[in-house]
Amino acid sequence: MERIRQGVLVLPGDVIGVEEEYFPGQGVYVNGKGYLRSQLIGRVLIDIVKRTINVRNIHGKPYVPKAGDIVEGIVSSVSEDLAFIDIYAIEEKPTRTTSFTGILHVSQASSEYIETMYDAMRIGDIVRARVINSNHPFQLTTKEPRLGVIAAFCTKCGSLLRKQDDKLVCPICGNVEKRKVSASYVFR
Ligand SMILES: [Zn+2]
Repeated sequence: MERIRQGVLVLPGDVIGVEEEYFPGQGVYVNGKGYLRSQLIGRVLIDIVKRTINVRNIHGKPYVPKAGDIVEGIVSSVSEDLAFIDIYAIEEKPTRTTSFTGILHVSQASSEYIETMYDAMRIGDIVRARVINSNHPFQLTTKEPRLGVIAAFCTKCGSLLRKQDDKLVCPICGNVEKRKVSASYVFR
């Protein structure tokens, strides 16, 4: 599986993928040799759980996260206590213009005790989280079973890790890694 390019601005007719990679979703048509193309001016939103690619139009009011929303994003940095997440979708709608920053504290990462954020997520992982407050920067929690990492990449070779029981295992190099894994993890 390739690294996704969430939030890219596309025009009608632009090729955004191929049928072998994704199912066509909203705002997407299949043309020619299995190419997936955009029907409109909008931003790409890939649902990596359902393997569906969508284009959402960029008209209308920007949607800003608020307390209680489920957001999805890419982990941009991790320290012992904190993770920073670039939010690219809110309640399954893509963010427009720039993305929002979410902050996750280690005490909010898991319902079980974890010593350090490095046991919950790593840079480049894709995370689903719930927003706790309604101002920027947004505080997040991933304690619920369906929240947490939905796609994680091997820190040694970069491959998408596979979920096996409670662990994540690299199918290429065999490396075993720890995360706060969501019930919606994509590769098992
Ligand atoms: Zn590996």
